[in-house]
Amino acid sequence: MKFDYLIVGAGFSGCILAERIATNLGKKVLIVERRNHIAGNAYDYYDENGILVHKYGPHIFHTNSKKVWDYLSRFTEWNIYYHKVLAVVDGKKIPVPFNLNSLYLIFPQKYAEKLEKQLIETFGYGVKIPILKLKEATSGELKFLADFIYEKVFLNYTTKQWGYKPEELDGSVTARVPVYISRDDRYFQDIYQGIPKLGYTKMFEKMINHPNIHILLNTDYREIIEDVKFNKLIYTGPVDYFFDYIYGELPYRSLRFEFKTMKLEYFQEVAQINYPNDYDFTRITEFKHMTGQKGDLTTIAYEFPESYIIGKNEPYYPIPKEENLEIYKKYLKEISKLNGIVYFVGRLAEYRYYNMDQIVARALNVFEKEVIYNI
Ligand code: FAD
Ligand code: UDP
Repeated sequence: MKFDYLIVGAGFSGCILAERIATNLGKKVLIVERRNHIAGNAYDYYDENGILVHKYGPHIFHTNSKKVWDYLSRFTEWNIYYHKVLAVVDGKKIPVPFNLNSLYLIFPQKYAEKLEKQLIETFGYGVKIPILKLKEATSGELKFLADFIYEKVFLNYTTKQWGYKPEELDGSVTARVPVYISRDDRYFQDIYQGIPKLGYTKMFEKMINHPNIHILLNTDYREIIEDVKFNKLIYTGPVDYFFDYIYGELPYRSLRFEFKTMKLEYFQEVAQINYPNDYDFTRITEFKHMTGQKGDLTTIAYEFPESYIIGKNEPYYPIPKEENLEIYKKYLKEISKLNGIVYFVGRLAEYRYYNMDQIVARALNVFEKEVIYNI
């Protein structure tokens, strides 16, 4: 069979582009996926105890883009869910992002009042400040506070998660979880937040349920690329693999997940508890809090960060660090030599720490600004 497009990868970027091309352009698409399932890292499934779990770590959808929310809402209804995270610091569970409630849980009342006043006078209520900025911008007692938060919330978590200290990574990494001068305990403040009502995988199934879309699972694209006829290629896998590592491997960070089911209604107070300073894992996720499932069993997942080794584990996170971006730029030059014959879209193909909503926006944009002008 001949296809108009071959798409490598059945994650957000691959499936959205397949859906747009099939529905809007009426073209034939083959998606080839290395894993035995669609949905990429957002894949969820019912475990042997009937609990809906996220195979590759907790996925909470959040966005300020109405366009992105409306697009996905064609394929799913939502459980409106506001993610809450606690971190264990000095034996207490405090809200993260570190906020005014965290301040009062950590420090004696009078001292917390003093720090709160100084924070609001210096930065204003409702302001979010990345920890590395807070450390630079403050002196006296606020500097003490910044150093405290840095040491107790960020330093050890980041070192575990990435193998680097916060200041050795691009500032955008720790800026994802800024100090928040507020009493809002939610992890995200986006307008739209939720979890697909029947799960992410069901949402993806609906998205690519189209007579023009064919899917081949358990297959690396290289196994079939010589045998399949197609006009254009959309690639959402690792960019260094595509170019046979000619400029060396791009470093990724991997994770090992350990799942455990218990005969308990709930294991912990909220969906996610972070352990910055204890254990080898970074966080424990309890899925029922996110999915709204009820019952007397619960499943949790521990996340153990580890180095990515090709062929051994999965490349979950590009590592945002100057020297890695330099390598990526060399691959970008190779991409430009292809003169738009291949589209590179996604967290692995663009070596970018994209959230789900960002990758939805990016895939829609590639379709609207590039694909339809280059049929
Ligand atoms: P992917 O989902 O990685 O899809 C790429 C697909 O290509 C994969 O299925 C892969 O198997 C396939 N592939 C690769 N190479 C080949 C090949 N050679 N041949 C065939 N197929 C191939 N985002 C949020 O917004 N909120 C969250 O709460 C959140 N939590 C996260 C937690 C974790 C632990 C991780 C790792 C990510 C999280 N994300 C979250 C980010 C989210 O997973 C990504 O933004 C999104 O999945 C990116 O989609 P993608 O299509 O770029 O990549
Ligand atoms: N982070 C931290 N302590 C925390 C939470 C986050 O140091 O309690 C830092 C850490 O470097 C982490 C980054 O902030 O990798 C981004 O956190 P986020 O929760 O966004 O990570 P993700 O869900 O993408 O793994």
